[in-house]
Amino acid sequence: MSDIDKFCCVRCGSENLCYGHLGSTPNVFIPSGIFTIHGFKTRSYVCVDCGYLGTYISRNRLEKLREKLKDRLDEI
Ligand SMILES: [Zn+2]
Repeated sequence: MSDIDKFCCVRCGSENLCYGHLGSTPNVFIPSGIFTIHGFKTRSYVCVDCGYLGTYISRNRLEKLREKLKDRLDEI
């Protein structure tokens, strides 16, 4: 995992996070109005200090989402 994918807990600011996935099948974010076959697989973390559970999209998938958003804006 790259440093850029490191998070602080949004609730308590702790960096003691355990990364993983939510659910036994991967959770997927499907953006509205954007064509995507597989969606964007999400990752999750749980803060070991306060128990906050966060979900995010990894950096390289975020790049792909940005490209798709840009394509959509170009079409308008
Ligand atoms: Zn926390």
